[in-house]
Amino acid sequence: MATAWPRRPRLVAGNWKMHKTPAEAAGLARELVELLRARGDAQVAICPPFPALDAVGAALRGSGIHLGGQNVHWEPQGAYTGEVSGSMLVACGCRFAIVGHSERRHGLGETDAMVAKKLRAAQRDGLVPIVCVGETLDERDGGRTTEVLVRQVHGAYDGLDAAGASATVVAYEPVWAIGTGRVATPEQAREAHVTIRTTLERVCGVGAGANTAILYGGSVNAENAATLFAEEEIDGALVGGASLQGPSFWKIVAAAGR
Ligand code: PEP
Repeated sequence: MATAWPRRPRLVAGNWKMHKTPAEAAGLARELVELLRARGDAQVAICPPFPALDAVGAALRGSGIHLGGQNVHWEPQGAYTGEVSGSMLVACGCRFAIVGHSERRHGLGETDAMVAKKLRAAQRDGLVPIVCVGETLDERDGGRTTEVLVRQVHGAYDGLDAAGASATVVAYEPVWAIGTGRVATPEQAREAHVTIRTTLERVCGVGAGANTAILYGGSVNAENAATLFAEEEIDGALVGGASLQGPSFWKIVAAAGR
């Protein structure tokens, strides 16, 4: 069952990837709680590595900042060495789970079919999935961006209705912009977000496109965030590198407030 989630909220999510021990992560979380005390209306989520979920969850308690996992397995439990289930994430206090991040799709062989199963499992277990889609540089240069986005959205969302879709968050993350310092222009992001919305509407029904929050991700930092957020199609950001320092993440969240 899909978790209740507002219509197209502003959201900034920090993906800490494989950085920080539990003690280091708790320290950064405590710093963020202080910095983000007066954060406008943007929702904020932090996705630390699994071993740091407990420590970061404790540091965030009462702050209104959400906790998220960077991945989730589709089975509720079992012989899946190295994997983590949605109910385990919920037990650690998570509200979100990232699924289909390009570092898993391209680095670890995660397929559209696996992303679809993870999306459904996250919803079954009471999480809001942040579903990552995006083209590689070769695909963009070959004029295949739209084809790739349509395939990835179909792959993840086929069979979901409009209410189910809008209880997810999509992150448009062009692979060539992740961790490279090369950011998509607001026009490139807008075009991709419109493709994603149109496809959601076609796949999941009326309202799915209009009501689903779509984040941009890929080298968002304190300097470029405001320009990206000025684009009406962009509902927030999934932030990697710039989420690892309190001040830069704080500036991105401040820029996201409407
Ligand atoms: C990410 O990991 O999702 C990401 C967008 O990373 P970065 O901000 O470092 O490009």
